[in-house]
Amino acid sequence: MKCLYCGYAESKVIDSRPTEEGSSIRRRRECLHCGKRFTTYERIEEIPIMVVKKDGRREPYDGNKVLSGIRKACEKRPIPSSEVERVADDVTREVFNLLDQEITSEQIGNIIMSKLKELDDVAYVRFASVYRQFTDIDAFMKEMRLLLEEKESK
Ligand SMILES: [Zn+2]
Repeated sequence: MKCLYCGYAESKVIDSRPTEEGSSIRRRRECLHCGKRFTTYERIEEIPIMVVKKDGRREPYDGNKVLSGIRKACEKRPIPSSEVERVADDVTREVFNLLDQEITSEQIGNIIMSKLKELDDVAYVRFASVYRQFTDIDAFMKEMRLLLEEKESK
């Protein structure tokens, strides 16, 4: 990223945050030559965050996958699609705010679950049941009980 003032090729990043709509990252940079500061907007695709999956494989973070997972969990629920997209944006923003190059699929799942919990109980349980892969009814009931206890203690 060349300096806007002197054209020097190297700069250091002072601050880094996703833009509102989550499709790019806004970076504040400081030129290593003239010391002037400038802002760049970089498309998220160019600096992929790698997701480490359970089996150890890595793949670039894909906000569309997050969106489709959330959408599936919210199917036939009285949730406007704008709300579904907002939650997906929130998740992506949170992932990028970690400023890590890698995130585990488990961390992403936990972020999604925490958002869905605030949004809709049924969507939350649906997502949790797929994500945590409840293999038996006991595990499922335990999760339900925890959810109900949390609601009651509020
Ligand atoms: Zn410069």
